[in-house]
Amino acid sequence: LPTVAIVGRPNVGKSTLFNRLVGRKLALVDDRPGVTRDRREGDVQFGGLSFRVIDTAGLEEADDDTLTGRMRMQTEAAILAADVVLFVIDARAGVLPADQPFAELVRRSGVPVILIANKAEGGAIAGAYEAFSLGLGDPIPFSAEHGEGLGELHEALKTTLPEPDPDAEDEDGPEGRPLRVAIVGRPNAGKSTLINRMLGEERLLVGPEAGITRDSISLDWAWRGRRIKLHDTAGMRRRARIDDKLEKLAVSDGLRAVRFAEVVVVLLDATIPFEKQDLTIVDLVESEGRALVIGLNKWDLVADQPGLLKTLREDCTRLLPQVRGVSVVPLSGLAGDGVDRLMQAVVQAAEVWDRRVSTSRINDWLSEATSRNPPPAVSGRRIKIRYATQVKSRPPHFALFGNQLNALPKSYTRYLVNGLREAFDLPGTPIRLSLRTSQ
Ligand code: GDP
Repeated sequence: LPTVAIVGRPNVGKSTLFNRLVGRKLALVDDRPGVTRDRREGDVQFGGLSFRVIDTAGLEEADDDTLTGRMRMQTEAAILAADVVLFVIDARAGVLPADQPFAELVRRSGVPVILIANKAEGGAIAGAYEAFSLGLGDPIPFSAEHGEGLGELHEALKTTLPEPDPDAEDEDGPEGRPLRVAIVGRPNAGKSTLINRMLGEERLLVGPEAGITRDSISLDWAWRGRRIKLHDTAGMRRRARIDDKLEKLAVSDGLRAVRFAEVVVVLLDATIPFEKQDLTIVDLVESEGRALVIGLNKWDLVADQPGLLKTLREDCTRLLPQVRGVSVVPLSGLAGDGVDRLMQAVVQAAEVWDRRVSTSRINDWLSEATSRNPPPAVSGRRIKIRYATQVKSRPPHFALFGNQLNALPKSYTRYLVNGLREAFDLPGTPIRLSLRTSQ
């Protein structure tokens, strides 16, 4: 679901707006297992629009040094997580100096913003005119209390929210949303053979009536009752042949496949593993932020299987530090061995990629990690990391707040990323880290 953050200084009516949007179907995220419980979030159905809304209110009481304290950090974290920001001001009070720092955070983030002049019931919109000075676009006169302005807000959200994921509507279905998987690799790694094997086996398992639908880019499949959308690699190739610029197309096809997928299986030919092109593909998976599994195909041709597996696992640790702990699964698409283990690894990688860690656990970990190995001093001043939170998943994305964080050496951020990976069991997934300096 796209995410909408409600941002503004204390007392402008953020919580009232939150309650108005979420309605009585208030679904706090801690209904879902393993999800952060330290900020208010709710799922919203609003005239055909579906989104998740984050309320940054309630943090106001948390600290008296409001702006430099938790609230500012929470606001920044919410903005980082958001696709759209609802920036709320008080239409009666007009624009106050206290609004400015929040407006500044929103402007700097580059996240699309909808400006709401709240408490404007009965046409009390004098302050709304001042709102133009914030440089955040035209204000919508609004009353969260009385439900005025909802139509205009709906219009604004409709044009600002990102396109919904075509699969999202299946989310509540009995088998859940299909998991999008792409199998990529060099020509002749055995991608088509593996895909045919997968589809063939499922047909045996579920009988012909289940059928296999084929659209231009994907194949619907199921593994142990779990719905899978497989990127149609072979379909890509059929089209590529027509064009004949195979080399060039292989790259853009790879990119398309990676963008399509939630989990990417990089299929290596185990008899000639880790050529430069394979590493390029892994880099692409990492930069696009997808979950990764490595398949070692043609395992039937390998004589010293334990020896090679050991070597290749070591290669992965050495060559692919950015996805430390990635699953490496030997298989034979031709013989059908290892396909089940591959799919187990795929499903597991998706879970890790999707994982959310609560802010309190992250901060417990942070104080441990920074006292064991404190950040260095820069030109005599100590770098201080004060607070951390996970702002997104898919892939896990953490934000750190503190002083002079832009001066943190790479080695130290690597220490932190590895620590997060260890502490919260996030093997094999790209991990994103945003550093926010609060002074
Ligand atoms: P693609 O280009 O990655 O789609 O590769 P293909 O699926 O067309 O396979 C390339 C060649 O490798 C074909 O001759 C396959 O029969 C062979 N091949 C694929 N998988 C295996 C495997 O697991 N073991 C063996 N021995 N050969 C395989």
